[in-house]
This record gives sequence, structure tokens and C-alpha cells, in this order.
Amino acid sequence: MGIIVQKYGGTSVGSLEKIKFVANKVAKRYREGHDIAVVVSAMSGETDKLIRLAKDLSPSPDPREMDVLVSTGEQVTIALLSMALKDLGVPARSLLGFQIGIRTDDAFMKARIIDIDTSVLRETFAAKEVAVVAGFQGITDTRDITTLGRGGSDTSAVALAAVLGAELCEIYTDVDGVYTCDPNICDKARRLDRISYDEMLEMASLGAKVLQTRSVEFAKKYNVPILVKSTFTDEGGTLTTQEDSEMEKEIVSGITYDKNEAKITILGVQDKPGIAAMIFTPLSESNINVDMIIQNVSADGKHADLSFTVTKTDYEKAMSIVKQLSGELGARDVVGDPSIAKLSIVGVGMRSHAGVASKMFSSLSRVGINIQMISTSEIKVSCVIDEKFIELGVRVLHEAFELERSRTAL
Ligand code: ASP
Ligand code: MG
Repeated sequence: MGIIVQKYGGTSVGSLEKIKFVANKVAKRYREGHDIAVVVSAMSGETDKLIRLAKDLSPSPDPREMDVLVSTGEQVTIALLSMALKDLGVPARSLLGFQIGIRTDDAFMKARIIDIDTSVLRETFAAKEVAVVAGFQGITDTRDITTLGRGGSDTSAVALAAVLGAELCEIYTDVDGVYTCDPNICDKARRLDRISYDEMLEMASLGAKVLQTRSVEFAKKYNVPILVKSTFTDEGGTLTTQEDSEMEKEIVSGITYDKNEAKITILGVQDKPGIAAMIFTPLSESNINVDMIIQNVSADGKHADLSFTVTKTDYEKAMSIVKQLSGELGARDVVGDPSIAKLSIVGVGMRSHAGVASKMFSSLSRVGINIQMISTSEIKVSCVIDEKFIELGVRVLHEAFELERSRTAL
């Protein structure tokens, strides 16, 4: 029997009852004869609570100490789950990141895993014990505790599955899979049985918050299939795996949206080399991520208008940086709009089909939705629209691409 890596998210271990429930699920698999590594998150709300404590204490908490603090949430869960397993007669061993050598770089609060030493895990399996591993955390070469960014337990689980050569990484959560769109705003949303790594990457980074984006990058690199399932039902599940010809038949697999976007437009900047660098270097130095960028040359050929989007959270900061620059840029004005959102269609089938973008545009225009910006990749088309039309936009596109049925035809 092979190695299984399971991950249980915060809502799956949010109470003692739920921890007992999870222990029973793990025990069942253990009794089938598998070697099991279970990765857990902190109990739901605990990480937020720890972050709040730090912020209430200090205006800018030290990142190293922040990681010592927030990594404690997972320590509670591995201890409790191991106790619950032992009560069921299942030998278990709780393990913190440093105990199994989850080595990371030293980027506190967003560290990247460098490698994992499998020897302790192998010993644990050899002793017929379930390895109950704290997600989200690692250790640097200088023995500092690190964390992997919010939602990082997904990445811990996928990384473990990769180094252990597990056939599958099971991610248990409070939803039963990945949907064609947000079921909360469209009752026609349909669960996808399978999705490719690239589609999942687009969906994850575009706002479908089922998996941490980095965990999908990891899974793709090491070819680890990820099964997202509900902890509380046996049905359903979405398998994220390598692309195949069956998936390509699906032109659009899903519609996503992101309301955390804001737009800034610089009017009449000089049209000469170096201007874009002058604008975007200070933004990146202030850790502001710019998403879409559009520049159009104005009629006189000397001045251009430039628009870009940032997260709503960074909007005020970005506005003030750009306003400060506007004199130097010779810009006529800087205007901003924080009430926009990004609506996207995603699907690997787009690579081989024409007319997908135009179908999106005409569907939106039919209901009077104005498109302010557009960006495309091989497997995605995104439009910036007025935030208040986002739900309508999702429903219209879901219908236009016939996503309630499992085959789309143009
Ligand atoms: N507990 C961490 C968080 O809330 C990690 C995780 O749940 O994946 O972000
Ligand atoms: Mg999560």
C-alpha cells in the first residue's frame, strides 16, 4: 500500500468534535494499511487571532517574531489530533516543521520551501505510526522558524507528497471541490471533476480561494495530483492533474472574479523611453503588485494615457506615490477608481479555439456591461468592469459558455 498525504484545513479541525471526526477518517485509512502523513492547519480563526494580538501590541511587528507567534496555531492542532488518534488505538506522532527538516529560505511570513528531509517521516512510517505534521511552517538554515504565507498548509502538504513520492495529495476542506464559478452568486455553478494545473493556477490566483497558489505551482512542478474534497461528505471532489485531450475539449472551464482591484490612470504622460520604469519601479519598491497595464498613445504622439490596476488594499498608497511622481512625469492629471473588479474566463481549450474573447465581449455588451480594460493569456481572458456588475457578469458568462452543461460549444 502506498503513502497517502492528507491535509485538513482550519474549518475541518475547528472544534474538538471535528478533530475527533477527522481522527476517525484518518484511522479508517490507516487500518486499510496505508502509510499516512496528515498535515493540519490551525483551528479556524486561530491564525487571525494571533495576527491580531501582534498588531494590537506593535505598529509593525518584527517578522521573525511574527512567525514564531503565528506558527503556534498548528502546534495546537497536531497535538490534539495525535491525542485523538491514540484514543482510537492508532499510533500517531505529532511533528513540527523543524522536527522533519522542512527547510525554507528566510523570507519571514512568505518563506519558500527548499527541501524536506524524509528520514523522520520514514522512521515514523516504519514504526507504523501516523505522522501528524504541522502545516504552514518551516525552519531556515540558521534555525529560525518561518511560515509560508496565508493558506500555506496546502503547500506543506503538496511538498510532503512530492518528496515522499505519494500517489495523491488529498486536501480536505469545507467545500466539495472546485466549481465552474462561485456557487454563492450563481446557482447554476457546477463542480468540476477534473481540472489541469494551469487552469487551477489561473483560478487560484484569480480569486477562487480553494488552494494556495504556490501549492499548485509545486504540484505542477513535481506532478503531484491534488484531490480537493469535503471533510464531511464522501461524495464529490475535484482532481487537479496534468492536462489531457479530454480537458482541451472544454473551451472554458470556469469563470472567476476578483473584487480586490482598483484602477489608476495617469493622463498625458510624456511618450518617451524610461517613463514606465519611472512609474513602476517606485511602486514595486513599495511592494505594490501591479496587475494589468494599458497604455495608449494620444493623438499628438507626444503624450500617452496610462492605466493600471493594483489591489484595493494598495490603492491609497499607490495613488499617493503616483501623484508625487506626476510633476516629474509631466502628467496632466492622475485619476483613480477603486470601485472596479476583474472578471475572467479560464480554460485550456482556448489555446486551440478562436472567438472565445469576442464571445465574452459580446455577451457582456448585450447586458450593457462596459469593459474598461482587457488582458489575455493563452488560457485566460480578463476584463475590468464596474464592481457593481460583477455578479451579473459572472452569471451572463456562465450561461453564454454553457457551463451548467459539461461541454461547451462556440
Ligand atoms: N493557518 C494558516 C492560515 O490561516 C495556514 C493555513 O491554514 O493554511 O493562513
Ligand atoms: Mg486554506
